[in-house]
Amino acid sequence: MTAPTPLDLKLVSRAGALATLPADAVDRLMAPARIVTVARRETLFRQGEPTTGFFIVVDGVLKLRRITCAGEEAVIQILTRGDSVAAASVFVDYRYLITAEAVSDARVLRIPVEHLMACIRAMPEIAIAIMTVTAQHLGQLVQHVEELKAQSGFQRVAEFLASLCPVPSGPCEVKLPYDKILIAGRLGITPESLSRMFAKLKPAGVEVHRAHVTIADVAILHELAAEPDFAEMPVRETGAGAPARGDRHAADLLLRRLAALDVDFRAISRSEPRTLRELQQVCTGCGCHTQCAGDLARGGASAAWKAYCPNAAVLKALGPN
Ligand code: SF4
Repeated sequence: MTAPTPLDLKLVSRAGALATLPADAVDRLMAPARIVTVARRETLFRQGEPTTGFFIVVDGVLKLRRITCAGEEAVIQILTRGDSVAAASVFVDYRYLITAEAVSDARVLRIPVEHLMACIRAMPEIAIAIMTVTAQHLGQLVQHVEELKAQSGFQRVAEFLASLCPVPSGPCEVKLPYDKILIAGRLGITPESLSRMFAKLKPAGVEVHRAHVTIADVAILHELAAEPDFAEMPVRETGAGAPARGDRHAADLLLRRLAALDVDFRAISRSEPRTLRELQQVCTGCGCHTQCAGDLARGGASAAWKAYCPNAAVLKALGPN
C-alpha cells in the first residue's frame, strides 16, 4: 500500500457523496487512507471476510459479485473511478456482503474501518455522507432488481446500450466498457444470450463488432427498452411435440401485418401495450402462418386474410379504416 497522491485525494474527495463534505472533514477522513493496487482478476476482498476498510476506486474497473447457493456467480455491480464500496458492511455484521474483484488493473483508496467509524461518531457531516452513499447503493440495487423483474433480457440489453450513448437520439458510436462475459453477468443473462440479442438488434440498426458498437438511432434503442419484446414471445409446441414455427416467425408476421395495415407498431406498443401482447399471443398460437406469410409475400393487399386470421377483428379496429 502506498500513500495517495494529491491528485488521488482530489479525485476521491470530489466523488459521490464525499463531494459535499467540507475540506476539514475530507482531510480528517482521508488522513490514514492508503492506495491498494489490485491486478486484473485479483480479489480486493471476499464475501464473508471481516470488514476492514471502506474503498473508493481511483483507477480501473472492479466487479462486485456474490456466489449463489448453487455455486453460480451473480454480478451485483460494476465499479469505475469514483465509485465506493463496502459502506453497508461497515454497519451490517462487520463482514463484506460481496466479493470485489478487479476486472482490469486497478488502484483503490482504502480508509480503515475503525477510522471511518471514529469519523462518523465525531463529525455528523461524515455520518450523513456515508449514509447518503449507502442509500445511493440501495437505490441502485432496487433499480437493478426492478430491471431484472420487469424487463426482458432483450429490453435490458437495449437499455444498457442506450445508457452508453451520450445523446438521446440520432446516430452514435460507442465502445463496450467491459468484456461481453461481464456485461452478460451484469444484465443477468448468459454470454450466448447476449450474442443472440446483439444479433436481434441488427435490424434495428445496431451493429456490434467486438467492442465497437454502431447505432443508427439511439431513440430506437430507448423505444426497444420500453416496449414489449417481440423476439421473446413464447414458443408454441405442435400436437406431435415438435417445435412449431418459432416465436420470431410469429412476431415477424404480426409486424408485417401491422405494416401492411399502415399501423405504427411503436405507437400501438405505447398506447395499447396489453392489446399488443394479446395480438402476439394469438399470432404465436395461430395455425395459419403459412397462409399469412404467403399473403404478406404477395403484398398483403388482398382482403382474404380477414377470413382466416384470428386477430382480424382487433387488427381491423387498430387500422385506419
Ligand atoms: S393470420 Fe393473423 S393471427 Fe395468424 S399469424 Fe397472421 S396476423 Fe397473426
